[in-house]
Amino acid sequence: TSFEEFNLNKQLLQAVADLGFEQPTEIQQKSIPLILGGQEVIGIAQTGTGKTAAYLLPMLMKIKYAQGTDPRAVILAPTKELTVQLAEHARLLAKYTDLRILPIYGGTGPKTQIESIQQGVDILVATPGRFMELYLRGDLPVKQIKTLVLDEADRMMDMGFMPQLRKIFEVISHKRQNLLFSATFSERVERLSAEFLEFPNKIEV
Ligand code: AMP
Repeated sequence: TSFEEFNLNKQLLQAVADLGFEQPTEIQQKSIPLILGGQEVIGIAQTGTGKTAAYLLPMLMKIKYAQGTDPRAVILAPTKELTVQLAEHARLLAKYTDLRILPIYGGTGPKTQIESIQQGVDILVATPGRFMELYLRGDLPVKQIKTLVLDEADRMMDMGFMPQLRKIFEVISHKRQNLLFSATFSERVERLSAEFLEFPNKIEV
């Protein structure tokens, strides 16, 4: 299989080529068509398998053609470092598009992040705590969010983020595509999946 076989546009394919990706990895082969088709996916894959691009590429593709001015997708991740890293990865893949990607995380004042949100964001990469904090302040427009990704779901469970995740599931549109990625399918991740996803396709690599 090659990346050309997916329904991705030229800008994304060029970015993939620039990164030196020659062939989709197993998780990418299995996830990309399902996510493009609007399905819910549980991806059980370790770091290093290409799991990030497996959801970023179809997500970028779909958002590019979905009109809107406010965030259309949110990726939740357990730590500041990971949100920054994921936003960096997304920006590299989106470099030939005009999509705007912003990491938001705690441990720092919210002012700069709020100003960036006001300038316009298409994709948020957030820690659950900061997401809820900005939402409760009225500084986070959530109405247009139609895709929700949980990355490193097992670590988010280990770190005790379940209460914040439940609140986030409530405040964003219930008509959305849910995606969950985790290195392991522990009992806690299984329970989270049952609560979070309606008709998931489980992919294990
Ligand atoms: P991840 O598992 O998402 O953390 O990705 C691990 C590393 O693999 C990252 O440095 C990616 O840039 C790289 N990568 C992702 N997909 C591919 C691919 N299809 N071919 C080669 N490298 C890739």
